Parts: sequence; C-alpha cells; structure tokens
Amino acid sequence: MSRICRVTSTQKTTASLLACDDHEPMHAFFPRKLKPICGDKVAIESTASDHRIEQILPRMNSFCRADNRGRKQHIAANIDQIMIVMAVEPFPTRDILNRYLVAAEAEDIEPLLVFNKHDLDERIFINQINQYEQLGYQVFKTSKHDQASIDAIKPLLTGKTTVIVGQSGVGKSSITRVMLPGVELKTGKLSVKTGKGAHTTSVTQMYHDAALDAYIIDSPGVWEYGLWVMSAHEIAAGFREFQPLLGQCKFSNCTHIHEPSCAIMQAVKKGSIRSDRYESYLRIVDSMKYWG
Ligand code: GDP
Ligand code: ZN
Repeated sequence: MSRICRVTSTQKTTASLLACDDHEPMHAFFPRKLKPICGDKVAIESTASDHRIEQILPRMNSFCRADNRGRKQHIAANIDQIMIVMAVEPFPTRDILNRYLVAAEAEDIEPLLVFNKHDLDERIFINQINQYEQLGYQVFKTSKHDQASIDAIKPLLTGKTTVIVGQSGVGKSSITRVMLPGVELKTGKLSVKTGKGAHTTSVTQMYHDAALDAYIIDSPGVWEYGLWVMSAHEIAAGFREFQPLLGQCKFSNCTHIHEPSCAIMQAVKKGSIRSDRYESYLRIVDSMKYWG
C-alpha cells in the first residue's frame, strides 16, 4: 500500500519526509530519474527494511532561483506564499524587494512583506509600507520584541506552505521562533560567507508546525545571485501596477524602455505609476545583461 508524504529535504539518493496524514518523519530512497525537491508530495512504497519514493505527484507550482549561469532552477514545490523579510539593519539593497516580487509574480505565488526590527527605527520604512500597501500587497511591520506584531502574521500561515526569504541577518530565524515556537530554522546558520559575501550553501529545508498546521520552507541564499534570465515582458508583468496597461502600448512587443506611445511611460509621466518603481524596472531589465 502506498503512502503520501511531503519532502522536507533531499540528499543525493534519499529524501527526508513527513507523512501527510500524521506527520511521522521518515526517510526514503528514490531512483535517480526522479528528482524530488523540497515540498513535493510523493507516493512511497515500504518494505520491511526501507521506504522508496515511487512517484512525485503533480506540482501546483514551484519556487525557483537562478543557478550560477542564470538558468531557472526549481528548488521547492507546492508553495502558497512567500514571506519576504526586510529589516532596518541590514538595510535592503537597492531593488531587492522588487526583484523578489518579480520572481513571486512570475510563479504566481502570493507575497507577504515583512519589515522587521521596527524597534530600532519606527520611521524608516513608513513610505515604503504605504507604497506597497497601495499596490495591494499585504504588509507587516514587526519586531522580535513586540509579540503582537508577529502574532498578526500567524493566521496567514495556518494550513499553508510558506517560503521565507530575505538577506542574512534580517531576523528570519528570530521571527519564526516567535511565530512558531516548535520550529527552529537551522539551515541559515550553516551558510558560510565567502570573501565575496556570497553564500556557499543552498540547503533548502521544510519544517512543519503542528499547532498552526503550517509548513515553513527556509532556503538560505535564495535569489542572492539574482533572478534567472527573464525577458522585459516577464519583468514588466512582475510590477503589479503595470499589469492593467500592458496591452495598451502602441507596439505589442513594447519593452517600455524607449518606444513611442508606450502606455507605461505615459503613466509614469502622469504620475499614476511611481517613477522610482519604473526606474527599478529599468535597472532590473538592464541587469539581465549580466547573464549574457
Ligand atoms: P536571519 O539570518 O534572517 O535568520 O536573522 P536572525 O534571526 O538570526 O537575526 C539576526 C540578528 O538580528 C540577531 O542578532 C537577532 O537577535 C537580531 N534581531 C532579529 N529580529 C530583531 C528585531 O526585531 N529587533 C532587533 N533589534 N533585533 C533583531
Ligand atoms: Zn510600453
């Protein structure tokens, strides 16, 4: 009889799993041709001595990042939402939030924005919080010293699978510890910084919190190498306020950079699209040159 489980992490030929019915932890072998990733739902067959993954069930979606050549790599499956954590310190690098949002929109995964460490500075993010709320995103202002601010996020995690992302040191582990006392993010702490400041590990790990029935996926260093190769069209679709205008440019293949009668550029001129978001769009498109 086969049993349905979820993959919490993978090694070369084995995977760690949680049974979907009672969350029993297990390990199973898989044949090389199957490439399970964290979050996958799998069917396993058991013998007296071991378990074996027979099948990966169809993926609802997957969370991706660029490999070191800019190709899209699938690293976690069946994701409901992405919690993007930013902090007063370390201050977000330029465009990082918009890059995260472009990646989330490309995979049709709902983003939750968390601005953390507000105890250090209450005011620094006020404009950004308003701006992203106006764009329709769910935004939270938190501090690990303010339990209520973190409790406000909890209902959104119930019954869901959430990937938590953000630069190292923003407070992902601290927030998770307060929200889900049963979960201790460990993978981030394994990541080693090289001289260039890049992470050398890419361990992706899923945790389950029984009290909230919440799955949390920690994927250190994700997106630190930037977005995978994307066209201007895909990037533009990642800017929510651009979406209603995308069919209205004079040229159907408009990149919204230099073309005449561009609906996006006209909206920027009128002020209905913020110029800082548009400039961020231009930089993100330009950054794709990096991948050659
Ligand atoms: P991670 O790398 O994103 O998992 O970040 P950590 O949770 O390890 O936090 C990094 C540092 O920031 C630690 O020294 C935490 O104590 C501190 N920190 C986390 N959240 C807050 C907060 O809300 N306020 C303040 N002042 N410090 C925080
Ligand atoms: Zn255009």
